[in-house]
Amino acid sequence: MKQHIFLSSPHMSEEGYEQRYMKEAFDTNWIGLLGKNVTEFEKEIAAKTGAKQAVALSAGTAAIHMALKAAGVTQGDLVFCQSLTFSATANPIVYEKAVPVFIDSDRETWNMDPVALERAFEKYEKIGKKPKAVIVVHLYGICAHIKEIAETCRKHQVPLIEDAAESLGTTYLGQHTGTFGDYGIISFNGNKIITSSGGGMLLVNTEDAEEKAAKVYRWATQAREPVLWYQHTEIGYNYRMSNILAGIGRGQLKVLDKRVEKRRYIFEYYRRHLSDLPGIQFMPALKESRSNCWLTAIQLEANGRVQPLDLIKALEADDVESRPVWKPMHLQPIFAECDFISTIEELHVTESEMGADNSISGQLFAHGVCMPSDSNMTDEDLDRVCNVVRKLWE
Ligand SMILES: *Cc1c(COP(=O)(O)O)cnc(C)c1O
Repeated sequence: MKQHIFLSSPHMSEEGYEQRYMKEAFDTNWIGLLGKNVTEFEKEIAAKTGAKQAVALSAGTAAIHMALKAAGVTQGDLVFCQSLTFSATANPIVYEKAVPVFIDSDRETWNMDPVALERAFEKYEKIGKKPKAVIVVHLYGICAHIKEIAETCRKHQVPLIEDAAESLGTTYLGQHTGTFGDYGIISFNGNKIITSSGGGMLLVNTEDAEEKAAKVYRWATQAREPVLWYQHTEIGYNYRMSNILAGIGRGQLKVLDKRVEKRRYIFEYYRRHLSDLPGIQFMPALKESRSNCWLTAIQLEANGRVQPLDLIKALEADDVESRPVWKPMHLQPIFAECDFISTIEELHVTESEMGADNSISGQLFAHGVCMPSDSNMTDEDLDRVCNVVRKLWE
């Protein structure tokens, strides 16, 4: 019988590191929130990425929320946010009753277009407004135009938050994504390159990183004042990572490099076996970057014979999981009222049952497919996927 092939599933270390760290937590009864695994995991992530400070939290989404608060985002503030992403990037803006302005992508990186970002600054400067923060994403592990974007933010003196949820292990000129901006966030959700079964990490790279990290610790633990009784001067959250889950994360971090190698291998495998098919394009990578290839994403020619939903359905019929590329936030009904900045002058809806438009992000969505990229896959699994794909072109 054929086995189900996952898009991306948890892949514990062959050595059993995760269970060892978890057992240590059990043996010392550090089952709750605080404990050695949490503090060590933070140190290890900071060392691995080069971030000044790292704060372990219950989710990547919580980390984005805390980054926005640390950047001073409050009610009514503008936040410039990449449109092509998962909704978890943008939702925390609304938690703080701030206003997202969505920014289009470019074809070179699929991520935030630095030209569209400059345009957004110009547009809002004209009406005397400036964003409180910018959120850029390194989608699927592809490095954004991070140098240009960081420069633009510095020039305008606006904090930059890097959503590196999908890009742990991706570097630009050897430096880890998530450490170019003032803040970076990582996710350890079950489908990411490594997982703690659920969790996230905030990276703080500001001059006053220690101070900012201390604030986040406080907010994430119900914002208690340092007195013996329960005293509160701010609204708090219950966002800290548990010591058990941090143990899983620590074990996984030991095999991160191996997982990156495997995902890069999967990307190369698909490229070797499928790029001769007319109308298939593989996701890009800046030459200064080294991608973790979390998911291998492809583009199918607009008027080609095979369209994304055909491919996804054909794979599904063979018990193989694939997905469309994220649907941009500016095309989501929940964000319909939000402004969107593109370098495309005349935006219009295109004919597609998925509801796309002719913006770059809209087109990447309309023609994109994320291929199964699970590091548990064998060469036989990869061949099975490639055969389904090739059959559609026959
Ligand atoms: C997974 C993901 C998140 C959210 O992380 P969670 O740990 O699931 O809360 C945020 N942004 C992007 C781009 C993601 O892929």
